[in-house]
Amino acid sequence: MASSPTIAVIGSLNVDLVSRVPRLPAAGETLTASSFDIGSGGKGANQAVACARLSQRRQEDGRPPRKVAGMQVRMIGAVGQDQFAGDLLKGLERDGVDVGSVRRLAGQKTGVSVIIVEEKSGENRIMFSPNANYSFSGKDNLVPDDASVVVFQLEFPIEAVLHNIKVAKAKGKQVILNPAPAVPLPDEAYRNLDHLIMNETEAAILSGRDSASVDANTDWTAVASDFLDRGVRNVVITLGAQGVFYQTAARRTSNLPGKRAAARKVESVVDTTAAGDTFVGAYAVQVANPAKRSYSFRGFDIDDAIGFAVGAAAVTVQRTGAQSSIPWLDEL
Ligand code: ADP
Repeated sequence: MASSPTIAVIGSLNVDLVSRVPRLPAAGETLTASSFDIGSGGKGANQAVACARLSQRRQEDGRPPRKVAGMQVRMIGAVGQDQFAGDLLKGLERDGVDVGSVRRLAGQKTGVSVIIVEEKSGENRIMFSPNANYSFSGKDNLVPDDASVVVFQLEFPIEAVLHNIKVAKAKGKQVILNPAPAVPLPDEAYRNLDHLIMNETEAAILSGRDSASVDANTDWTAVASDFLDRGVRNVVITLGAQGVFYQTAARRTSNLPGKRAAARKVESVVDTTAAGDTFVGAYAVQVANPAKRSYSFRGFDIDDAIGFAVGAAAVTVQRTGAQSSIPWLDEL
C-alpha cells in the first residue's frame, strides 16, 4: 500500500442546473421558480470533494488546508471541452482533488443534471444527462495502482464500473460502491464489494423489492441480508432523516443483529442534495485512514465511520447546492 492513503473516485462530473420551486409543477404546467443557480455536481465529483474536504483542515491567515495523514484524493472521469468543464475542474483543484486523470474530450458535452428543489421539504428531483461521462467502456482500466480505496457510483457506463470493480479487488484495494442511480447488478459484482452504501430506494430496487413499498415497517435486516448473501462485506442503508441501518458479514456470522444510527437533529433542512454523497465520501475517508479518530491504529471501525458520515451529512442538508454544501473537516 502507498505510504500516504490515496482514495480514487471513479465516476461522474456534472454541472447542476438548479431551480428552487414552492411546489412541484403538475404535467403541462409552467411554474415560476423562486431562484436558479448553476453549480458543480455529479455523484463522482461530489464524493471526491467530500473525501478531500473531510480529510483537510482549513487554516487561518490564508495558508493552504492541512491534509490529515497526507491523504490524496484522485478523480477519474471525463468532461467535454465546453465552458462548463473548466469551472468544474478548477473547483475540484481548489478543494485539493487531483484532476490529472480526468479526460477532456473534444466534441463532447460535459454531463448535466437538471435539478428541482421543493423549498418546503428540501426534497430534490434530478434529471441526469451523462454526455462525456458515458465515454468509457468495459475495456478501460481506470484503477490507479497507488490507491488504497476505490469509490464507484453508477452515473457511469455499467460495463466500465463492473470491469473496474473486478480490477480494483484483484489489486487488493478496498472497494466501495454507491449504486446510484440504481441499476440491477450481476451477482458476481457483489462478491468484490467491501462496502455497499445506498439509500433506501436503491436498497429496495437492487434487492428486487418494490421501491414504493418501503416504509417505517420495512425489515432492513432482511434487505441487508440479501446483499450479505451475495458476498458484500459491509452493507450500509441510509434512511434520510431516519438515519442509517447497517450490518456486516462479520457481525452476522457472530449472530449479532444489524445496527441503527440516528440522523443528527438539525434546525432546518434546506436542501438534501449531496447528503448521500457527503455520507459516502466521509465513510471512504474513514476506510482509508481508520486511525484518525482513535490515536492508535486499530483498523477500520464501522461504528466510527457511520458516526463521522452522519455528522458530515447533517451539515450538508443545512446548506444549498451540491459541492457548495459539503463541509471541511474543521466544520464538524
Ligand atoms: P440520499 O441523499 O442518497 O438519498 P439520504 O437521504 O438517505 O441519502 O441521506 C444520507 C444521510 O444524510 C442520512 O443517512 C442522514 O445521515 C443524512 N440526512 C439526510 N436527511 C437528513 C435530515 N433531514 N436531517 C439530518 N440528516 C439527514
